[in-house]
Amino acid sequence: MKDLILAGRRAERCVIGLKDVTIGAKEIILIGGPCAVESSLQMRRSAETVKKAGGKILRGGVFKPRTSPYSFQGLGLEGLNYLVQAAKDHGLLCVTEVIDAQSLDQVVNRVDIIQIGARNMQNFELLKLVGKINKPIILKRGLSATIEEWLLAAEYVLAAGNPQVILCERGIRTYEPSTRNTLDLSAVGVAKELSHLPVIVDPSHAAGRRDLISSLSKAAIAAGADGLLIETHPNPAEAASDGPQSLTPGQFIQLAGELGVVASSVQRIFTAGRPEDTIESLRAQIDSIDQIILEKLADRMQIVRKLGDQKRLDQVKVASRQKEIVQRLVNLANELQLPAELVKRIYPLIFEFGIQSQIKSHLAQEKELELSTYYPTSGK
Ligand code: PEP
Ligand code: MN
Repeated sequence: MKDLILAGRRAERCVIGLKDVTIGAKEIILIGGPCAVESSLQMRRSAETVKKAGGKILRGGVFKPRTSPYSFQGLGLEGLNYLVQAAKDHGLLCVTEVIDAQSLDQVVNRVDIIQIGARNMQNFELLKLVGKINKPIILKRGLSATIEEWLLAAEYVLAAGNPQVILCERGIRTYEPSTRNTLDLSAVGVAKELSHLPVIVDPSHAAGRRDLISSLSKAAIAAGADGLLIETHPNPAEAASDGPQSLTPGQFIQLAGELGVVASSVQRIFTAGRPEDTIESLRAQIDSIDQIILEKLADRMQIVRKLGDQKRLDQVKVASRQKEIVQRLVNLANELQLPAELVKRIYPLIFEFGIQSQIKSHLAQEKELELSTYYPTSGK
């Protein structure tokens, strides 16, 4: 793509390191918080939620670019203090949006990341200004911006001297009215193909409704996003802005707990916060792990059956393959500090039931074959 001199694709992807947080590497970064900062208590509760979920960055708008001039415009500097304090008290980084030179001046030395909102994606003077600072910039995709326009907006920041840009897909305007915007998940792959910059996804402003946030977040990770920016509010019904798309604290924490498996399915990592160690929560964790173990055993059994259907049973080969598997798993068990004996005892049983199910499947197939030889279907 023409003119992506600095933002274009390179051999090495851009990885942004900020204190103990790395954006654009293997780990998926979770950013959470309310649309707008409303009070100190609201921010403390939000920070607590983000921390518990395993999020690393607290968000909250203090200068709100609202569609209507009569909507809540943000608390300004007072709100900034609440955001910064809550993040600090909970060991989180923080991000807020700037809308002009003055707001940039006011926040630049107080927050860790600066956000340029969708409505300002092509505010070229503002892009040049954030290009002169030494802090990462989250650059939201404009409401109706093409991917090329979005990347060229990033180029403005890079060309002005700031290489730390994080692209954020937050839905684009289409003819579809069921959601606030249409989340363009292909943009994640396209932007990552055309550029070396990290790409995160904001499902909240895309969907505009909380019931879709969980599935869109997972889809975003599967699509290659480096992080998620999700709105959460201690009491969404009372939120000054974007309540309908904000997750409750419980929903936010639950979603975070579900992201790890999606991340690992695409060779990424997300570590959810550790739930509190009450007896109930520990039991719930054990129950959900047991369920996963059983579901995976069922999957394994099905694959073993398919394998059995594809070959004649060859016991010699099976025995040597079983030995190999056990050896590999014993090594893994050692790495995971599990007793090797556990593998040695459990796996013979798994193999035995696998072979039994292969034999059953063979017998069933033979019977079917016999029946079809005696009673061939008459071709009418
Ligand atoms: C926001 O993140 O608070 C916001 C206003 O988002 P967007 O610019 O994507 O509409
Ligand atoms: Mn919002």
